[in-house]
Amino acid sequence: MSPRPLAPGSVIGILGGGQLGRMLALAGAKLGFDMHVFDPEPDCPAARVASRSWAAPWADAGAVEAFADRCDAITYEFENIPVEAVEVAAKTAPLRPGARSLELTQDRITEKRFINEAGVATVAFAPVDSLADLPAAIAITGLPALLKTRRFGYDGKGQAWIRSADDAAAAWESIGEQPAILEGAAAFVRELSVVAARSVDGVVKAWPLAENVHQDGILKQSTAPATSVDDALQARALEIATALGNGMAHVGVFAVELFDLGDGQLLVNEIAPRVHNTGHWTMDACGCDQFEQHVRAVAGWPLGDPAPHSSAVMTNLIGHDVDDWQALASDPQARLHLYGKRKARKGRKMGHLNRLGPLQDRG
Ligand code: AMP
Repeated sequence: MSPRPLAPGSVIGILGGGQLGRMLALAGAKLGFDMHVFDPEPDCPAARVASRSWAAPWADAGAVEAFADRCDAITYEFENIPVEAVEVAAKTAPLRPGARSLELTQDRITEKRFINEAGVATVAFAPVDSLADLPAAIAITGLPALLKTRRFGYDGKGQAWIRSADDAAAAWESIGEQPAILEGAAAFVRELSVVAARSVDGVVKAWPLAENVHQDGILKQSTAPATSVDDALQARALEIATALGNGMAHVGVFAVELFDLGDGQLLVNEIAPRVHNTGHWTMDACGCDQFEQHVRAVAGWPLGDPAPHSSAVMTNLIGHDVDDWQALASDPQARLHLYGKRKARKGRKMGHLNRLGPLQDRG
Protein backbone atom coordinates (compact mmCIF):
# COMPACT_ATOMS: atom_id res chain seq x y z
CA MET A 1 0.00 0.00 0.00
CA SER A 2 1.29 3.48 -0.82
CA PRO A 3 2.23 5.70 2.12
CA ARG A 4 -0.25 8.46 2.96
CA PRO A 5 0.25 11.67 0.99
CA LEU A 6 1.70 14.60 2.93
CA ALA A 7 -0.84 17.29 3.73
CA PRO A 8 -0.12 20.94 2.89
CA GLY A 9 1.71 22.48 5.85
CA SER A 10 4.00 19.45 6.12
CA VAL A 11 7.74 20.06 6.06
CA ILE A 12 9.80 18.89 3.10
CA GLY A 13 13.57 19.09 3.57
CA ILE A 14 16.03 19.58 0.73
CA LEU A 15 19.64 18.46 1.04
CA GLY A 16 21.60 21.01 -0.99
CA GLY A 17 20.80 24.68 -1.48
CA GLY A 18 21.91 25.62 -5.00
CA GLN A 19 19.63 26.82 -7.77
CA LEU A 20 17.86 23.46 -8.06
CA GLY A 21 17.09 23.55 -4.33
CA ARG A 22 15.89 27.13 -4.73
CA MET A 23 13.47 26.28 -7.55
CA LEU A 24 12.26 23.22 -5.59
CA ALA A 25 11.67 25.39 -2.51
CA LEU A 26 9.64 27.87 -4.57
CA ALA A 27 7.57 25.07 -6.14
CA GLY A 28 6.95 23.45 -2.76
CA ALA A 29 5.84 26.75 -1.23
CA LYS A 30 3.33 27.13 -4.07
CA LEU A 31 1.70 23.86 -2.98
CA GLY A 32 1.54 24.96 0.65
CA PHE A 33 4.53 23.05 2.04
CA ASP A 34 7.13 24.43 4.41
CA MET A 35 10.40 23.91 2.59
CA HIS A 36 13.54 23.53 4.74
CA VAL A 37 17.01 23.61 3.19
CA PHE A 38 20.24 22.09 4.51
CA ASP A 39 23.49 23.35 3.01
CA PRO A 40 26.95 24.11 4.42
CA GLU A 41 26.70 27.64 2.96
CA PRO A 42 24.28 29.85 4.99
CA ASP A 43 23.81 32.35 2.14
CA CYS A 44 23.12 29.73 -0.54
CA PRO A 45 20.49 30.46 -3.24
CA ALA A 46 17.82 28.17 -1.74
CA ALA A 47 18.23 29.40 1.84
CA ARG A 48 16.96 32.82 0.80
CA VAL A 49 13.58 31.51 -0.37
CA ALA A 50 13.07 28.63 2.08
CA SER A 51 10.85 28.71 5.18
CA ARG A 52 13.88 27.66 7.17
CA SER A 53 17.51 26.99 6.38
CA TRP A 54 20.05 24.91 8.21
CA ALA A 55 23.75 25.60 7.69
CA ALA A 56 26.33 23.06 8.86
CA PRO A 57 28.98 20.84 7.30
CA TRP A 58 27.72 17.60 5.71
CA ALA A 59 29.85 15.67 8.20
CA ASP A 60 28.00 17.19 11.19
CA ALA A 61 25.71 14.23 11.90
CA GLY A 62 24.02 16.02 14.82
CA ALA A 63 23.03 18.95 12.60
CA VAL A 64 21.75 16.69 9.82
CA GLU A 65 19.71 14.78 12.40
CA ALA A 66 18.24 17.98 13.89
CA PHE A 67 17.21 19.10 10.40
CA ALA A 68 15.79 15.68 9.52
CA ASP A 69 13.83 15.58 12.78
CA ARG A 70 11.81 18.56 11.60
CA CYS A 71 11.03 17.07 8.17
CA ASP A 72 8.10 14.91 7.09
CA ALA A 73 10.03 13.90 3.96
CA ILE A 74 13.50 14.68 2.66
CA THR A 75 14.83 15.03 -0.87
CA TYR A 76 18.11 16.11 -2.45
CA GLU A 77 19.04 18.50 -5.22
CA PHE A 78 22.30 16.89 -6.32
CA GLU A 79 23.76 13.40 -6.42
CA ASN A 80 27.11 14.03 -4.79
CA ILE A 81 25.77 14.60 -1.28
CA PRO A 82 28.09 12.67 1.04
CA VAL A 83 26.56 9.26 1.72
CA GLU A 84 26.99 9.67 5.52
CA ALA A 85 24.68 12.71 5.53
CA VAL A 86 22.13 10.89 3.42
CA GLU A 87 22.21 7.87 5.74
CA VAL A 88 21.62 10.03 8.83
CA ALA A 89 18.74 11.85 7.12
CA ALA A 90 17.13 8.64 5.84
CA LYS A 91 17.06 7.12 9.35
CA THR A 92 14.92 10.00 10.58
CA ALA A 93 12.44 10.77 7.77
CA PRO A 94 11.43 9.17 4.46
CA LEU A 95 14.09 9.95 1.86
CA ARG A 96 12.65 10.41 -1.65
CA PRO A 97 14.28 9.47 -3.96
CA GLY A 98 15.85 6.74 -1.86
CA ALA A 99 19.50 5.95 -1.24
CA ARG A 100 19.42 3.36 -4.07
CA SER A 101 19.08 6.10 -6.70
CA LEU A 102 22.22 7.74 -5.30
CA GLU A 103 24.21 4.52 -5.00
CA LEU A 104 23.43 3.60 -8.59
CA THR A 105 24.38 6.99 -10.03
CA GLN A 106 27.31 8.24 -7.90
CA ASP A 107 29.74 5.82 -9.56
CA ARG A 108 29.89 5.70 -13.36
CA ILE A 109 30.75 1.98 -13.50
CA THR A 110 27.92 0.95 -11.16
CA GLU A 111 25.61 3.23 -13.15
CA LYS A 112 26.49 1.78 -16.58
CA ARG A 113 26.22 -1.81 -15.32
CA PHE A 114 22.79 -1.01 -13.89
CA ILE A 115 21.68 0.60 -17.18
CA ASN A 116 22.80 -2.42 -19.22
CA GLU A 117 21.15 -4.83 -16.76
CA ALA A 118 17.91 -2.85 -17.22
CA GLY A 119 18.15 -3.74 -20.93
CA VAL A 120 19.27 -0.30 -22.08
CA ALA A 121 22.32 0.33 -24.29
CA THR A 122 25.39 2.44 -23.42
CA VAL A 123 28.78 2.85 -25.10
CA ALA A 124 31.31 0.07 -24.44
CA PHE A 125 33.21 0.73 -21.21
CA ALA A 126 35.79 -0.71 -18.84
CA PRO A 127 36.97 0.14 -15.32
CA VAL A 128 40.48 1.61 -15.01
CA ASP A 129 42.13 1.55 -11.59
CA SER A 130 45.71 2.16 -12.67
CA LEU A 131 47.71 3.17 -15.71
CA ALA A 132 48.49 -0.50 -16.22
CA ASP A 133 44.75 -1.23 -16.78
CA LEU A 134 44.53 1.12 -19.77
CA PRO A 135 45.74 -1.15 -22.62
CA ALA A 136 43.16 -3.84 -21.76
CA ALA A 137 40.45 -1.20 -21.39
CA ILE A 138 41.33 0.29 -24.79
CA ALA A 139 41.03 -3.21 -26.28
CA ILE A 140 37.38 -3.20 -25.09
CA THR A 141 36.39 0.35 -26.06
CA GLY A 142 38.53 0.99 -29.13
CA LEU A 143 39.93 4.47 -29.84
CA PRO A 144 39.19 7.29 -29.50
CA ALA A 145 37.97 6.79 -25.96
CA LEU A 146 37.11 9.05 -23.07
CA LEU A 147 38.66 8.56 -19.63
CA LYS A 148 36.42 9.85 -16.82
CA THR A 149 36.74 9.72 -13.06
CA ARG A 150 34.32 7.15 -11.64
CA ARG A 151 32.93 9.56 -9.06
CA PHE A 152 32.23 13.25 -8.56
CA GLY A 153 32.39 14.26 -12.22
CA TYR A 154 30.12 17.04 -13.41
CA ASP A 155 29.91 19.54 -16.27
CA GLY A 156 32.62 17.65 -18.19
CA LYS A 157 35.18 17.92 -15.36
CA GLY A 158 37.62 15.04 -14.68
CA GLN A 159 37.61 13.83 -18.28
CA ALA A 160 40.34 13.32 -20.90
CA TRP A 161 40.22 11.98 -24.43
CA ILE A 162 42.61 9.24 -25.49
CA ARG A 163 43.09 9.30 -29.26
CA SER A 164 46.14 7.06 -29.51
CA ALA A 165 47.83 4.69 -27.06
CA ASP A 166 50.52 7.37 -26.59
CA ASP A 167 47.96 9.66 -24.86
CA ALA A 168 47.24 7.14 -22.11
CA ALA A 169 49.76 8.31 -19.49
CA ALA A 170 48.92 12.01 -19.95
CA ALA A 171 45.17 11.30 -19.72
CA TRP A 172 45.62 9.22 -16.58
CA GLU A 173 47.67 12.00 -15.00
CA SER A 174 45.23 14.74 -16.07
CA ILE A 175 42.26 13.13 -14.30
CA GLY A 176 44.31 12.97 -11.11
CA GLU A 177 45.20 9.23 -11.22
CA GLN A 178 41.86 8.33 -9.65
CA PRO A 179 39.64 5.27 -10.16
CA ALA A 180 38.18 5.80 -13.61
CA ILE A 181 36.03 4.48 -16.42
CA LEU A 182 37.14 4.31 -20.04
CA GLU A 183 34.26 4.86 -22.46
CA GLY A 184 34.14 4.23 -26.19
CA ALA A 185 33.31 7.32 -28.26
CA ALA A 186 29.61 7.61 -29.04
CA ALA A 187 29.09 8.50 -32.72
CA PHE A 188 26.12 10.71 -31.93
CA VAL A 189 24.40 13.19 -34.23
CA ARG A 190 23.02 15.15 -31.29
CA GLU A 191 22.50 15.00 -27.55
CA LEU A 192 19.02 14.57 -26.16
CA SER A 193 17.60 14.10 -22.70
CA VAL A 194 14.41 12.76 -21.29
CA VAL A 195 13.26 14.16 -17.97
CA ALA A 196 10.70 12.02 -16.18
CA ALA A 197 9.09 11.52 -12.80
CA ARG A 198 8.08 8.40 -10.91
CA SER A 199 5.46 8.52 -8.17
CA VAL A 200 5.45 6.56 -4.90
CA ASP A 201 3.06 4.09 -6.51
CA GLY A 202 5.29 3.56 -9.55
CA VAL A 203 3.58 5.72 -12.21
CA VAL A 204 6.15 7.16 -14.66
CA LYS A 205 5.43 10.30 -16.69
CA ALA A 206 7.94 11.98 -18.98
CA TRP A 207 8.23 15.32 -20.73
CA PRO A 208 9.04 15.29 -24.44
CA LEU A 209 12.69 14.87 -25.43
CA ALA A 210 14.87 17.97 -25.23
CA GLU A 211 17.83 18.60 -27.54
CA ASN A 212 20.86 19.95 -25.72
CA VAL A 213 23.91 21.92 -26.78
CA HIS A 214 26.96 22.19 -24.52
CA GLN A 215 29.72 24.78 -24.52
CA ASP A 216 33.01 24.10 -22.71
CA GLY A 217 31.39 21.06 -21.09
CA ILE A 218 28.47 23.10 -19.67
CA LEU A 219 24.87 23.02 -20.93
CA LYS A 220 24.22 26.17 -22.94
CA GLN A 221 20.86 25.59 -24.59
CA SER A 222 17.97 23.12 -24.61
CA THR A 223 15.32 23.10 -27.33
CA ALA A 224 12.14 21.30 -26.46
CA PRO A 225 10.27 19.42 -27.65
CA ALA A 226 13.32 18.41 -29.73
CA THR A 227 12.69 18.76 -33.46
CA SER A 228 12.64 15.76 -35.84
CA VAL A 229 11.56 13.30 -33.18
CA ASP A 230 9.11 10.73 -34.48
CA ASP A 231 6.66 8.83 -32.30
CA ALA A 232 8.95 5.79 -32.20
CA LEU A 233 11.90 7.77 -30.80
CA GLN A 234 9.74 9.51 -28.19
CA ALA A 235 8.24 6.13 -27.22
CA ARG A 236 11.72 4.62 -26.92
CA ALA A 237 12.74 7.50 -24.61
CA LEU A 238 9.74 6.81 -22.37
CA GLU A 239 10.57 3.10 -22.39
CA ILE A 240 14.14 3.87 -21.28
CA ALA A 241 12.97 6.28 -18.56
CA THR A 242 10.44 3.73 -17.31
CA ALA A 243 12.98 0.89 -17.19
CA LEU A 244 15.55 3.02 -15.34
CA GLY A 245 13.05 4.72 -13.00
CA ASN A 246 11.57 1.37 -12.03
CA GLY A 247 15.02 -0.23 -11.70
CA MET A 248 16.09 2.47 -9.23
CA ALA A 249 12.68 2.29 -7.47
CA HIS A 250 13.01 6.03 -7.85
CA VAL A 251 10.53 8.49 -6.36
CA GLY A 252 10.72 11.96 -7.87
CA VAL A 253 12.11 13.54 -11.01
CA PHE A 254 15.17 12.16 -12.80
CA ALA A 255 16.85 12.88 -16.10
CA VAL A 256 18.44 10.54 -18.61
CA GLU A 257 21.08 12.05 -20.89
CA LEU A 258 21.04 10.36 -24.27
CA PHE A 259 23.17 10.13 -27.38
CA ASP A 260 21.01 10.09 -30.53
CA LEU A 261 22.84 7.94 -33.08
CA GLY A 262 20.56 9.21 -35.84
CA ASP A 263 19.30 5.76 -36.86
CA GLY A 264 16.61 5.37 -34.22
CA GLN A 265 19.07 4.16 -31.58
CA LEU A 266 19.52 5.98 -28.29
CA LEU A 267 22.45 5.28 -25.96
CA VAL A 268 22.31 6.40 -22.34
CA ASN A 269 25.19 8.65 -21.31
CA GLU A 270 24.18 9.14 -17.71
CA ILE A 271 21.31 9.39 -15.25
CA ALA A 272 20.78 12.36 -12.93
CA PRO A 273 18.58 11.23 -10.01
CA ARG A 274 17.13 14.71 -9.56
CA VAL A 275 15.62 17.69 -11.30
CA HIS A 276 17.86 18.68 -14.18
CA ASN A 277 19.01 21.71 -16.12
CA THR A 278 17.61 20.23 -19.36
CA GLY A 279 14.18 20.28 -17.70
CA HIS A 280 14.15 24.02 -16.95
CA TRP A 281 12.13 24.68 -20.12
CA THR A 282 9.15 22.96 -18.46
CA MET A 283 8.82 25.90 -16.03
CA ASP A 284 7.16 28.06 -18.67
CA ALA A 285 6.04 25.63 -21.38
CA CYS A 286 4.20 22.79 -19.62
CA GLY A 287 1.13 22.16 -17.52
CA CYS A 288 3.21 20.79 -14.66
CA ASP A 289 6.91 21.70 -14.52
CA GLN A 290 9.70 19.50 -13.21
CA PHE A 291 9.95 21.25 -9.83
CA GLU A 292 6.26 20.98 -9.00
CA GLN A 293 6.29 17.39 -10.26
CA HIS A 294 9.19 16.51 -7.98
CA VAL A 295 7.45 18.02 -4.96
CA ARG A 296 4.26 16.13 -5.87
CA ALA A 297 6.16 12.82 -6.06
CA VAL A 298 8.07 13.45 -2.81
CA ALA A 299 4.81 14.34 -1.05
CA GLY A 300 3.15 11.16 -2.35
CA TRP A 301 0.69 13.18 -4.43
CA PRO A 302 -0.53 12.10 -7.87
CA LEU A 303 1.75 13.33 -10.65
CA GLY A 304 0.69 16.39 -12.63
CA ASP A 305 0.25 16.47 -16.39
CA PRO A 306 3.62 17.11 -18.06
CA ALA A 307 2.11 17.87 -21.50
CA PRO A 308 3.59 21.03 -23.04
CA HIS A 309 1.39 23.88 -24.25
CA SER A 310 4.31 25.61 -26.03
CA SER A 311 7.74 24.83 -27.38
CA ALA A 312 10.70 26.46 -25.66
CA VAL A 313 14.33 27.34 -26.09
CA MET A 314 16.05 27.45 -22.71
CA THR A 315 19.32 29.37 -22.57
CA ASN A 316 21.58 29.23 -19.53
CA LEU A 317 23.05 32.48 -18.27
CA ILE A 318 26.60 31.46 -17.48
CA GLY A 319 29.09 33.71 -15.69
CA HIS A 320 28.86 37.31 -16.88
CA ASP A 321 25.97 36.59 -19.31
CA VAL A 322 23.84 37.72 -16.39
CA ASP A 323 25.29 41.23 -16.57
CA ASP A 324 22.80 41.75 -19.45
CA TRP A 325 19.87 41.39 -17.05
CA GLN A 326 18.42 44.80 -17.94
CA ALA A 327 18.20 44.01 -21.64
CA LEU A 328 16.81 40.55 -20.88
CA ALA A 329 14.28 42.00 -18.47
CA SER A 330 12.98 44.35 -21.18
CA ASP A 331 12.57 41.52 -23.71
CA PRO A 332 8.89 40.52 -23.52
CA GLN A 333 9.70 37.14 -25.13
CA ALA A 334 12.22 36.13 -22.47
CA ARG A 335 10.97 34.45 -19.29
CA LEU A 336 13.79 35.21 -16.92
CA HIS A 337 14.83 33.06 -13.96
CA LEU A 338 17.69 34.35 -11.81
CA TYR A 339 19.21 32.34 -8.99
CA GLY A 340 20.22 35.15 -6.60
CA LYS A 341 23.89 34.17 -6.60
CA ARG A 342 25.95 37.00 -5.16
CA LYS A 343 28.83 36.90 -7.63
CA ALA A 344 29.19 35.91 -11.29
CA ARG A 345 32.17 33.67 -11.95
CA LYS A 346 33.34 32.08 -15.19
CA GLY A 347 31.37 28.86 -15.74
CA ARG A 348 28.90 29.56 -12.91
CA LYS A 349 25.22 29.09 -13.72
CA MET A 350 23.58 32.40 -12.71
CA GLY A 351 20.14 31.98 -14.24
CA HIS A 352 18.33 30.91 -17.37
CA LEU A 353 15.72 32.19 -19.73
CA ASN A 354 12.97 30.47 -21.62
CA ARG A 355 11.72 31.72 -24.96
CA LEU A 356 8.42 30.18 -25.92
CA GLY A 357 7.10 29.35 -29.38
CA PRO A 358 4.16 27.46 -30.81
CA LEU A 359 3.98 23.73 -30.29
CA GLN A 360 4.74 22.03 -33.62
CA ASP A 361 3.09 18.86 -34.79
CA ARG A 362 5.59 16.05 -34.62
CA GLY A 363 6.77 14.29 -37.75
P1 AMP B 1 29.26 13.69 -18.99
O1 AMP B 1 30.02 14.37 -17.89
O2 AMP B 1 29.37 12.21 -18.96
O3 AMP B 1 27.86 14.18 -19.11
O4 AMP B 1 29.97 14.17 -20.36
C1 AMP B 1 29.99 15.52 -20.77
C2 AMP B 1 29.91 15.62 -22.27
O5 AMP B 1 31.00 14.94 -22.90
C3 AMP B 1 28.67 14.95 -22.88
O6 AMP B 1 27.56 15.82 -22.82
C4 AMP B 1 29.13 14.66 -24.30
O7 AMP B 1 29.10 15.83 -25.09
C5 AMP B 1 30.58 14.27 -24.11
N1 AMP B 1 30.71 12.82 -23.91
C6 AMP B 1 30.59 12.17 -22.73
N2 AMP B 1 30.78 10.85 -22.90
C7 AMP B 1 31.00 10.64 -24.21
C8 AMP B 1 31.26 9.48 -25.00
N3 AMP B 1 31.35 8.26 -24.45
N4 AMP B 1 31.42 9.66 -26.33
C9 AMP B 1 31.34 10.88 -26.89
N5 AMP B 1 31.13 12.02 -26.19
C10 AMP B 1 30.96 11.91 -24.86
